Amino acid sequence: MPDKTRDRLHDRIFGETECLIAETIFRLLDGRLSSAELHEAERHLSQCPLCRDAVEGAEAHSEDYKALMEETSDLGGVGPSQKKTVRFRKIHWLAAAAILLIGLFTVNRQIHRQPQHLALFHQEFEPFPNIIPFVRSGNDPSVFERGLQYYSLNDYQNAFPLLKEAAYTDKDSSLAAFYTGISALALGESAEAVQYLNRASSVDNKTVQDALDWYKGLAWLRIGNPDSVRVYFSKLSGTEGPYQNRSRKILQVL
Ligand SMILES: [Zn+2]
Repeated sequence: MPDKTRDRLHDRIFGETECLIAETIFRLLDGRLSSAELHEAERHLSQCPLCRDAVEGAEAHSEDYKALMEETSDLGGVGPSQKKTVRFRKIHWLAAAAILLIGLFTVNRQIHRQPQHLALFHQEFEPFPNIIPFVRSGNDPSVFERGLQYYSLNDYQNAFPLLKEAAYTDKDSSLAAFYTGISALALGESAEAVQYLNRASSVDNKTVQDALDWYKGLAWLRIGNPDSVRVYFSKLSGTEGPYQNRSRKILQVL
């Protein structure tokens, strides 16, 4: 293919970005890409998990998108004054739908613009479930229990100070430090996360031990220190368990 044709093809599907533009994704889903474009798009999709996610997301919203396109061309069927109100309402609805779609792709673009390690972090991070059975000790839940209640509600802002306090005072302080570390990570405080996850190292539970390595690896991934990241994910990729394949995958793309 001559270079100029290739450049134009690239511009059509990637715009000025390294990744598929929204229009390309919709044209792909509608089967409106030429075979050369489709070839390029598929080649990119085979290498880019972020664009695969974007295509999946767009697929899930493609009905909204189609409805949006139909609404713009079809506002007939009602009397003139009624029509005005309907049109007005529809325009509101259209605006909301358009904002939603633009929002989706803005988020997608922002993830794309982040360094790869941050994008990977956001793709892989989800907080560890609360595995501590809630035991009512009298009428008064402990600081740790209160922290875990917020943690279970994904309210890390309120969970963090309570869990932190428990990490220094509770008899299960290793587990408290573990959940403090994950809350810190969820709040974007990666360095603090590392500090508390390190404090939790004496925890006496194989599942939590593996999870500790996983979250330490993720914390270093968020900070952007590939050497430390490799230490933890190499260890986990040699350990059978829920983190083995995920760690291998991260090491491959790192
Ligand atoms: Zn991409």
